[in-house]
Amino acid sequence: MFLDVHELALHKARIRKTYAPGTIDLHSADFRQIEPLEVRATAELLDGQIRITGNLHTKLELICARCLDTVTEEISKDFDLFYRSMTTIAEEDEAQLNLDEMDIGFFEGDGMFLADILAEQVNLALPMKVICRSDCRGLCPHCGVNLNNEECRCEKHPSDARMAPLARLKQDWSKKQ
Ligand SMILES: [Zn+2]
Ligand SMILES: [Zn+2]
Repeated sequence: MFLDVHELALHKARIRKTYAPGTIDLHSADFRQIEPLEVRATAELLDGQIRITGNLHTKLELICARCLDTVTEEISKDFDLFYRSMTTIAEEDEAQLNLDEMDIGFFEGDGMFLADILAEQVNLALPMKVICRSDCRGLCPHCGVNLNNEECRCEKHPSDARMAPLARLKQDWSKKQ
């Protein structure tokens, strides 16, 4: 869907759309959409700026930062965004732009694609660090086993007195890597 400034100048656009997984390029290899993305929004032209306000909802599959297992995360985000035409910015003295206007996005030409706005909003809604569960034990740094699923031998070495010197050696070795 294209938000055309000339059309928005005539009337507001009420948006109710559903995007199946794969139909929006989310610009990231770190997660994938696994349920339809639902968006409800209103787009209008306000003082020459495109204002789009509404909310989106979807479900993503991400990777746990500790154990690399997949994690599903429900994403809901409200937004109220302003986009300004690049051409009007060029005409204005840049010094006139206030700092608080730096939150404003820009569009080129006759408008912008809704999908681009949604992709940006989904990326902004992601948690900084994704963990499958608060007590995730992660991967063993030595053998790579997922410690949530199984114990590995490396872990037992330090508690075994006879193996302690070897464990220390291993630690020193891994620190140097
Ligand atoms: Zn995990
Ligand atoms: Zn291990």
